[in-house]
Amino acid sequence: MTAVIPKVLVVDNDTITRDLLCSSLARQNFDVVVARTGLDCISTVLNEAVDIVLLDAVLPDVDGFRCCEILHERLQDACPPILMVTGLSDETSVNRAFEAKATDFITKPFNLTLLHHRIKRVLRERQLFRELEHINLQLKKISRTDDLTKLANRRFFMSALAKEWRRLYRERQPLSILLCDLDAFKQFNDTYGHLEGDRCLKRFANVLRSCVERSTDIVARYGGEEFILLLPHTSLEGLKTIDDKIRCRLEERAIPHRNSAVASTMTYSSGGVTTIPFAKVNPEKLIADADDALYEAKANGRNRLVLKYCELGVPQG
Ligand code: GH3
Ligand code: MG
Ligand code: MG
Repeated sequence: MTAVIPKVLVVDNDTITRDLLCSSLARQNFDVVVARTGLDCISTVLNEAVDIVLLDAVLPDVDGFRCCEILHERLQDACPPILMVTGLSDETSVNRAFEAKATDFITKPFNLTLLHHRIKRVLRERQLFRELEHINLQLKKISRTDDLTKLANRRFFMSALAKEWRRLYRERQPLSILLCDLDAFKQFNDTYGHLEGDRCLKRFANVLRSCVERSTDIVARYGGEEFILLLPHTSLEGLKTIDDKIRCRLEERAIPHRNSAVASTMTYSSGGVTTIPFAKVNPEKLIADADDALYEAKANGRNRLVLKYCELGVPQG
């Protein structure tokens, strides 16, 4: 892997300072670009991947403090670190620089060696910060994903349910959930082995994934061979349509199951519930009702859907 050379933008209207900084930074193996005015600085940072900015405070057009503010406003967290390098050293200027979110403040005449070390330290900190952000993102993803199927996991489902419950209570709109459980899955494992069982769970997860279209719909693995769908703004009829689609697509896949008492291919049973959320009820009540419906579907012979409209009360307000 080739090391990436950091790009430093030197902003100064004074030729001597600019040349001194450019030549010393180039000797330190930085990729150096220059700007002579504030506007030039802003456009360079917005258009090029600059890693750090050495910014003079006194410039002929937009001053360094304002440049710093504008760049932070425009780029937010993506703004490169800005080091003010200036002849000003009064308290007001120092405070203004940090209020404008400058990373550091270096007064002229500067010590070049010290300046190089400060630049390297800031770049190192930025790199570490990015790595940390990346790891956090990965962890967040892992914490809400089921490892086997890559669907949402139960924890993520529960927090999404609580959010949708509050939102749809305000909107007085229906919320549906569908709880699906593969039939005779224990026999499937016993017949074909655990690895084939895992493969079947992944295939069913893909079927479920393919049957929802809205960005607010959530398909999650609820546990073992149980899956759950969160369907905001979906009526009982909509819920039935989705279940029909899932049943049809699973049938098309025709996953052989020679020891099932239900059919010669893999089937599932489901319990579906629709309600208009009610403030005083815990949304987990909806899952308990879906579980009851699922139990009924199993008791009535499996490979079927039992639907319930769950009347929780009249929304207030
Ligand atoms: P029913 O029709 O009543 O739902 O019967 P069933 O056999 O599907 O249900 P049961 O609850 O008796 O068994 C569920 C099986 O699912 C047992 C368990 O070993 C299996 N299982 C749970 N998680 C996994 C998994 O991650 N991989 C595999 N291969 N099997 C799993
Ligand atoms: Mg089960
Ligand atoms: Mg089962």
